Amino acid sequence: MKTIAMPLLLLAALAAAAPAQAKLRVFACEPEWGSLVQELAGDKVDLDVGTTALQDVHVVEAKPSLIAKVRAADLVVCTGAELEVGWLPQLIRQSGNAKVASGAGSFMAAAQVRTLEKPTALDRANGDVHPDGNPHIQMDPRRILIVARRLDARLIQIDPANADTYRQRGASFEKRWLAAMAKWSAEAAPLKGRKVVVHHISWVYLWDWLGIQEIGALEPKPSVPPTAAHLAELVGITKSNNTLAIVHAAYQDSKPSNWLSQRTGVPVLNLPFTVGGDAQSKDLFGLFDSTIAKLLGAAK
Ligand SMILES: [Zn+2]
Repeated sequence: MKTIAMPLLLLAALAAAAPAQAKLRVFACEPEWGSLVQELAGDKVDLDVGTTALQDVHVVEAKPSLIAKVRAADLVVCTGAELEVGWLPQLIRQSGNAKVASGAGSFMAAAQVRTLEKPTALDRANGDVHPDGNPHIQMDPRRILIVARRLDARLIQIDPANADTYRQRGASFEKRWLAAMAKWSAEAAPLKGRKVVVHHISWVYLWDWLGIQEIGALEPKPSVPPTAAHLAELVGITKSNNTLAIVHAAYQDSKPSNWLSQRTGVPVLNLPFTVGGDAQSKDLFGLFDSTIAKLLGAAK
């Protein structure tokens, strides 16, 4: 009796001491997708976020620390639509992690929704355009909701052991998000029809949602310095349109916006652009709370 009981007890003890099944590892390229993974998965995944709100995600250095994180990942969650074309393919290649190169381990948010500014064949001949449209989809809560549903389904697919958790958290997120969207839309009603000038064309989805009109950009193309003629024209446009604000993202240099503000008297607005872009933007809800509040502040 004793000789049988002992190994059994030992086995039970070993089983109790053994670590639980390894958690799903997720690598998010940008803070907004990291935040969304957090909402949907909670502590069921180990999450790495590759960039911060104070970085320009058009240009990121493929550092060894990032390569290591991609190597360990079961799932990468990124924007896609060529936003990370300068660094993500390199990270994946150098990580040697075929699991996240394509298929279920690769989730591109922009591929889940309809993108704006998709060029026609004619535009494409001019070069320097994104064939998949404007990639900055995270500033539209309607698109965030669609991405959330698709991402939740993907988590269930690749980690079925935790399917119940993902379903519950997905439903909870959707309920809270729809309520927040109704609140934001009501609050933002006075912004409808207002005009803005931007640093870079990063905000088309936000304007599309709120009914705000973008009438000019300091840098129509990212990181390409504007010409003197373009700036002179922009001063005129900004002055003559009762412009609400000159908008730049937290990561962008405020100098060009300040320059235009000094010449036009139109205020500069530094918007968070993603989670972590200001103190209030601690998660996706805070990101939109802050963005709406700042726009309304300029409208007063
Ligand atoms: Zn861009």
